[in-house]
This record gives sequence, structure tokens and C-alpha cells, in this order.
Amino acid sequence: AYISLAEKFKYMNAFITIDYDAIRASAIESDNRLRKDSDEINLLEGIPIAIKDLFCTQNELTTAGSAMLRNFRSPYESTVTYKLKKSGAIPFGKTNMDEFAMGSDNSYSYFGPVISPWKNSQFPDKKIVPGGSSGGSAAAVASYQCMAALGSDTGGSVRQPAAFSGLVGVKPTYGRCSRWGMIAFASSLDQAGVLTRSVLDAALILDVITGYDEKDQTSLNFESTRCTDVLKSNCSIRGLKIGIPSDYKIAGMSEDIIRMWEKAEDWLKEEGAEIVPINLPNTSVGISVYYVIAPAEASSNLARYDGIRYGERATRSGQTFNEMVAETRSQFFGNEVKRRIMIGTYVLSAGTYDKYYGQAQKVRHIIAQDFKNAFEVVDAILTPTAPTPAYSLGENQDNPATIYMNDAFTVPTSLAGLPAISVPCGLSEKEQLPLGLQVIGNYCQEDIIFKVAFALE
Ligand code: GLN
Repeated sequence: AYISLAEKFKYMNAFITIDYDAIRASAIESDNRLRKDSDEINLLEGIPIAIKDLFCTQNELTTAGSAMLRNFRSPYESTVTYKLKKSGAIPFGKTNMDEFAMGSDNSYSYFGPVISPWKNSQFPDKKIVPGGSSGGSAAAVASYQCMAALGSDTGGSVRQPAAFSGLVGVKPTYGRCSRWGMIAFASSLDQAGVLTRSVLDAALILDVITGYDEKDQTSLNFESTRCTDVLKSNCSIRGLKIGIPSDYKIAGMSEDIIRMWEKAEDWLKEEGAEIVPINLPNTSVGISVYYVIAPAEASSNLARYDGIRYGERATRSGQTFNEMVAETRSQFFGNEVKRRIMIGTYVLSAGTYDKYYGQAQKVRHIIAQDFKNAFEVVDAILTPTAPTPAYSLGENQDNPATIYMNDAFTVPTSLAGLPAISVPCGLSEKEQLPLGLQVIGNYCQEDIIFKVAFALE
């Protein structure tokens, strides 16, 4: 059934690689395991889960949405996909994404843009973006081409496409999921995440993919309660204090989103939670800090694509080593990736380092401190996930700064390394497009954000 939907919805361009024969073979293996008379059933046995194309899967293409890696076959498996497979999931294709996860609407993929299954009711002929950078994962889950999908979230790339596509999207605490085998964008921010159609599905899959991994030096060695158990045993939010940060009411935010945010306060109160106004005073500088730190780390991480070790090499590659590297990188990186490398290299240069990178690190610390202060008073924080609903493909093409603003609500959480989940909470009035709310939790308190998300769902 899923394969026939994937064939039917090919035009959405949600997958970069999808091998139906391999999927059928894996489904048969799963079926055989289920037929064995055993008390133990793997947690995700037989569940088709798509994988964002920046998780390395052994001997298969892993492109990160880039021409640079269009023929790259990974010699090893990422920890997160290994865990999924071990729990019986059927790997259902590798999903399209913005190149190296840099983008917010999936229009920066070498393999072409992804089209959302959603329609703007006012302009039904226009193509809508699914959000990004995990746009292929979002479109695939939203159109029932698979049951769930893996994404990655550096500054919002799981939560924002979830909000744009009417899905649940969760990014755990930094360090909960191993980054081993995940193609790096900005290592101090990158985290694996999950896109699903329900909160319980997200909890189930997150429980499988989290956990300590000695192969990742930033992996957290922390045994927490399984989110699924929490939702099954005690999902009440009675007595929980939910913070509402007024600083998230920014100019240009859609009226619909403000209304829904207020409605959600009432829903939570009805369930017995207490609403507490809070301040996160440095929210407005989150974007500036992120767009210094993320490009800085990206410029360093992407230095490995030199035409020798990984990926493509330009055929007309010049006389000298430097010419070969320059020619290869000019030819095989897309414009957004080049823009980030240039920003990153600039902010790390002698002479500008202190002014930009050093300063951004200090402000990052202050933003984290804002959250720390807030969590002395509240158990979770409720904000919109993005300031607007999804827009039409090409609408913001010539204006990267507008696209960057889309991350205003997701980026501060990433800078602080906190867990957050986006939950669909209705449709915008005019366009009839999905709106999402974000629940942010304290370090390793995924169980609490799941409870609040469950109450909102
Ligand atoms: N949209 C943000 C960016 O372009 C976040 C991307 C991400 O989380 N991978 O950097």
C-alpha cells in the first residue's frame, strides 16, 4: 500500500533514492519474523520509516541533497538507522532535503524542490513548500507514503517542516541521539529527529533511536524514562506550569498563529495546567547568533569535500592542488552552501573572529541562560513553531533573509541544546494550511514535552 502511494505521489519529489524491491524484501523478512512463534516482537517490526538522505546507510547512496555526494555510497551505517533497522523497521527510501540541511523550504536541493501535499485554498494551483530542510521526510509522511520519517534538526529542520506539513516533529536534547554517521552541518547543533502523524508514534520511534553511543563524543550517557511508557501510564498535565514568552510575539507574525497560540493556553488550562507569563529577553538575537555559529561550523565541516576523500572531483580540475579543490567546490556546491561557507570563513578569520564568532558564542550562552532562568519557574514553554504557515514555492527565492526569519522560534532552542516538539494545532483561516505549536522542555525532559504535546493533539 505504501509503495503504491509512493508511486502515485512521485511528483512531490519526496525521495532521492527509493528501491521498491529492497523494501519488499525487507517487508518479507519482517513478515517471517512475525510469523515465528515468539513472545518477543521487535518494537517497530514491519513499520515503513523513511530516512533523510544525510544518514549514512551502508552501501547505499547518501547524498545530503548535494551534487558533491550524488554518487557517494557510504561504507558504514549511522547509529540511528542501525537502531531503527534492529528494531524491525522497514527502511523506506532516502528522502529529499535542502543541500547539506541548509534551508527552510527544501528548494535548495540538487535533486529539485519537494512539493507539499497541502494546497492553499485561495490559490489551489500554486505549489506549496513542505518546509525544510527535512522537506522530503515531511511530504512523505504527510501524504502517507510512509508511516514516519527521520529528519535532522540543526536550527529547526524537523520542527518547521512538521508545522508546515501538519505533522508532529520532535528534536530531542542535544546528545540524546548519536550523530555517528549523520553528515555534519553544524556539529554543536545537529540532532536527529522524527516526523510522524501522531505524538505517540513520535514517542515510540524516539525511544528506539535515543541512547548513549561511544562513537559520538557528544553523546549523553543518561538513562531516561521511556516517553512511550509515560504517555501510557500517566499523561496528565495537571499542575504542570507552562510558560508563555511574550518575546515570541514578533512583527510579521500571522494573526492566525497568534489566535491559535491563545486558544492553546485555554486547552492546557482545561487539562489542569497553569499558564505562567515568562520572558526570554534575548530571543530576538537568536537568528543573528545562529547565522554566525552555524555557517562557521559548516565552513569547517565542509572543508572535507576537497575532491579527494569524498564525493565528486571536477574533470577540468586545473594544474595545481589548489586549482583542483577550487574547481571541484565551485562546480559541485550549490549557491546556498557557498553562501554559508563564505559567511563561516569570514566570521572565523583573524580580524573578524572576536567581533563575530567570539561574540556569537557569548550571546549563545546568554540565550541558554534565559531558558535556564525560565525553567526555574516553569516545566515547559509553549510557542508557535514558525511565524507563518507554509508559502508558495519560489515566493521567497530572492530573499534569503526572509527565509532565515522563519527559524526565529526554533533556533533559540537549538542554540541552548534543549528538546522541543512541534504539534499540529489547526489550519490557517484564509489559506487552510497547517499551523504548529512548539513545546520546549528542560534538558532531557522529553517526557514532559510529550505529555504537553499529547494534551494539545
Ligand atoms: N533553516 C535553518 C538553516 O537553514 C535550519 C536548518 C536545519 O535545522 N538543518 O540553517
